[in-house]
Amino acid sequence: MSVLPIADEALLQAIVGGCGPAQRRALAKAITLIESTRADHRERADALLDALLPHAGGAFRLGLSGVPGAGKSTFIEALGMYLVERGHRVAVLAVDPSSTVSGGSILGDKTRMQRLASHPNAFIRPSPSGGTLGGVADKTREAIIVCEAAGHDIVIVETVGVGQSETAVHGMTDCFCLLQLPNAGDDLQAIKKGVMELADLIAINKADLDEAAAMRARVQITSALRFFGTHARGGQAAEEGQAWQPEVLQVSALHSKGLDAFWAAVTRFREHQAARGLQAARRRAQDRAWMWERIEAGLHERFKAHSAVSEALPRLTDDVQAGRVAPSVAARRLLDLMN
Ligand code: GDP
Repeated sequence: MSVLPIADEALLQAIVGGCGPAQRRALAKAITLIESTRADHRERADALLDALLPHAGGAFRLGLSGVPGAGKSTFIEALGMYLVERGHRVAVLAVDPSSTVSGGSILGDKTRMQRLASHPNAFIRPSPSGGTLGGVADKTREAIIVCEAAGHDIVIVETVGVGQSETAVHGMTDCFCLLQLPNAGDDLQAIKKGVMELADLIAINKADLDEAAAMRARVQITSALRFFGTHARGGQAAEEGQAWQPEVLQVSALHSKGLDAFWAAVTRFREHQAARGLQAARRRAQDRAWMWERIEAGLHERFKAHSAVSEALPRLTDDVQAGRVAPSVAARRLLDLMN
């Protein structure tokens, strides 16, 4: 483990041992350091993460996804307030796939979750931006470590229900929840099977708008989940009949209704996982997958930056396109140049 520079040692102490606004500032500063692309910052961030890691891991990590307009920020604010009022310390992070393209963050809108943002026991950080989705998710995962080391016992990671970001958030949380609209049941095709298989809980939001539709959606989604079966979801646990059967609930984020039932379901899920060692197993698998995802991304970057490779690449690409060299042979020749 590297020795921290004095400034970062102070940062570490302010995160692990601090409280109030000073800790919050330290938390924000550490995450900014982690998100930096400068090589010297990366080195400092790595040393800081090493030092923070023994203090992390204690939070419950809840993933939340839903299409734009499903009510994610309204729900997170309501749930966050519900939790801080019960003595929890809540951190809210995000993985925004659009930030990888635009460089901006739709989940970073400052006007969102204002009540929660100003609560002393809550910390809200918008999605990192720029780079690949893998890179953005990577920074969010590191931010989880920082928030946990600062004593947050609930970390909520939000993402938009489009594309691969749901898989990424599922891969960094203990419980993955999908927020649906009351009309979801009318068009089950619209709910991607793959995402349904990821969900541990499904909350039908805006139940206040149309109780009957929300109830219908609940029944339809519940039976669709049975149809998908638990096998694809639970792996080994499913084979042993230990897999969790996802629950479907109705909530109204705008009126803070259904939060008790939602949190009770989360607690049931947690207890189910803990009793069977499934939460620890999920985290171990997530850590392995995270490491390999980063190795692969790193290798890819190094390959593209390698001088002999970039020199030979255009010629070999031409050879492949002209049918002179088989793609597999070209790939092997290029990879060999890295030796
Ligand atoms: P997001 O894009 O998923 O973050 O959705 P928002 O939280 O921004 O909500 C989108 C709109 O739906 C806003 O106008 C909210 O006020 C509204 N909304 C959210 N939850 C509810 C709810 O439970 N009931 C009703 N009637 N409206 C809601």
